[in-house]
Amino acid sequence: MKQLAEDVFQLKGWPPNAINVYLVGDVLIDAATRQGERRIMRQIAGRTVTAHALTHAHPDHQGASHAVCETLGIPLWCGQGDVPAMEVPGSVIARNAPRIISSFQGRFWVGPPHPVARALTEGDEVAGFSVLETPGHTHGHVSFWRESDRTLIVGDVLMNMNLMTAVTGLHEPLAFATPDPARNRASARRLAELRPALACFGHGPPLRDPDKLARFVAALPDP
Ligand SMILES: [Zn+2]
Repeated sequence: MKQLAEDVFQLKGWPPNAINVYLVGDVLIDAATRQGERRIMRQIAGRTVTAHALTHAHPDHQGASHAVCETLGIPLWCGQGDVPAMEVPGSVIARNAPRIISSFQGRFWVGPPHPVARALTEGDEVAGFSVLETPGHTHGHVSFWRESDRTLIVGDVLMNMNLMTAVTGLHEPLAFATPDPARNRASARRLAELRPALACFGHGPPLRDPDKLARFVAALPDP
């Protein structure tokens, strides 16, 4: 894994940066798809991991969550609004429109339900980061912000990769996988206003350019 900031590591994956998992202090943030279990367990072997937190309960983030939590015997945390998606069988997919990719994710990526030990809300502390409620892409989407060095774990409020082509660049998340795009755009504006020195995305390489982020968000049409 690669160190991005103090106590912030990005796990390796293939294609590089496509589906990101971070180790932040002793908390694993996101867990890729169901197929991600082995790469996660291999890379965190020997590290102290005491909890697993999600930015949101989509199949490319919660796929290996159940397996990781069971194997390590650690609790799962996620945003309050995504607790039902994580706990109720079938609900991760039911929240997405029934498009081809959603059904693909449903068959191959989605992880089993898992009880949420801690429902995260605005201002909660996770490994030295503050929880920001950033809904839109999912009802209970959260981001994690560390003011001291302006490090932001974005989740999927914005992406830094085109998921169809794997080309780097800022994008809003795909509309069909985002139940409330206007709300997500408001969350994106909020995150850009923080002017993060380091932004770590669910998809795409990290970005150390707050101006670029601000310009991208400023160019988005009003909801
Ligand atoms: Zn995602």
